[in-house]
Amino acid sequence: MKIDGHVHTPFCPHGTDAPMEDYVKEAERKGIDVLVFTEHAPLPEGFEDPVPEKDSAMRLEDVEAYLAEGARLRKEYAGRVDVRCGFEVDYIEGFERETLKLLQQYPEAAGNSILSVHFVRLPDGWFCVDYSADAFEEKSAELEVGIIYQAYGEAILKAAGKPFGGLNPPVLGHINLIHKFRKRVAPESDPVDWQGVLETAARNGYRLDFNHAGRRKPDYGETYPEEWMVREALGLGMKLQTGSDAHAPEDVGRGFAGE
Ligand SMILES: [Zn+2]
Ligand SMILES: [Zn+2]
Repeated sequence: MKIDGHVHTPFCPHGTDAPMEDYVKEAERKGIDVLVFTEHAPLPEGFEDPVPEKDSAMRLEDVEAYLAEGARLRKEYAGRVDVRCGFEVDYIEGFERETLKLLQQYPEAAGNSILSVHFVRLPDGWFCVDYSADAFEEKSAELEVGIIYQAYGEAILKAAGKPFGGLNPPVLGHINLIHKFRKRVAPESDPVDWQGVLETAARNGYRLDFNHAGRRKPDYGETYPEEWMVREALGLGMKLQTGSDAHAPEDVGRGFAGE
């Protein structure tokens, strides 16, 4: 059974405008059995998007339309592609209560969701770790790249601890996203306790997003998690869930279901 468990939509302001149905058509064409839409959930109230364009996530007022289109496609393609609809939820330290509110509002979507870390709190404010290589390099020059890694490591460890209990997304997103620009800039030694992150995630029953977008990233070029982490996760009894992190229809299944 082929699954693409990490797919974006036109509701993502930093993605493309192609309709959700085009993603489903592409999945069908590539023989993918299950497609899970995981649009970036609206950022929690009171959290200001730190990227210059303020376009990291879906708008709150779009959630209903997004879920309705997901439900329509699920019906329309029944027996051909198993379409599911959830969110890519951000774990943002200190905003757990606001985030939980959204999960409580959409419990069915919560069960199809992924929990990821994109934002970390640094001494000089919030920072989006995967926004751009230039921004990452600049921030590393201002602070110390190890500090950014460390902040990410702490956040992903907390996310691995299943902070949202019974409504927690069952999948942990691209766990080593912090490595996205490591060919450009990286600390001499990686301060993140990856083993601890994997063990914590395993203990909490997570599946791991086996995210193939990293292979398309020039400063990284591998899957998230990388190979040794995959081996380790499997050794811990965890399941991996393939995902393309497609922000355009042609990227559905890319890297694991044909090119
Ligand atoms: Zn995105
Ligand atoms: Zn994503």
